[in-house]
Amino acid sequence: MGIGIIIRCKECDYSKNLQIGVGMMYAPHNILNLESKSPILKSLIPSKKTIEKIKMLIESKNAVLADDYGHYIYRCPGCNELFDRFFIHLDYDNGSFEPSYRCGKCRSTLERIDHNPDESSIEERIGKILTSFPCPKCGSRSLYVDSDCTLMWD
Ligand SMILES: [Zn+2]
Ligand SMILES: [Zn+2]
Repeated sequence: MGIGIIIRCKECDYSKNLQIGVGMMYAPHNILNLESKSPILKSLIPSKKTIEKIKMLIESKNAVLADDYGHYIYRCPGCNELFDRFFIHLDYDNGSFEPSYRCGKCRSTLERIDHNPDESSIEERIGKILTSFPCPKCGSRSLYVDSDCTLMWD
């Protein structure tokens, strides 16, 4: 199940709505089915080049999907902006592949900041991670998850 969270800053009016996790339709065979009329992966990863690359890896390199795929929080190391992007990891015979994303504002390559889930709730985990990053707007380390606004989605 996916979750929608709102991240806010205690020092300014910054807020960002982010979707993380996986939806109900995201079974591995759906993710990897690029032959259907409207492949789900195309809506998750906007880059045609990345989709072509994944298609090639599946078709000619027997790529397999790691099970930690889903929407994760990424941040821009250039301007500190936060994004949600779809993470996928493919392993094949002599390598592995993960898509990379660029910041829409400053074109830096985004870094994924929330890694594997632990026992704490998503909000707690994300909240903890956020304390080490400056607010994209005012630069103070005052980001938090507004837990009144958390939504489930599928
Ligand atoms: Zn940026
Ligand atoms: Zn701020």
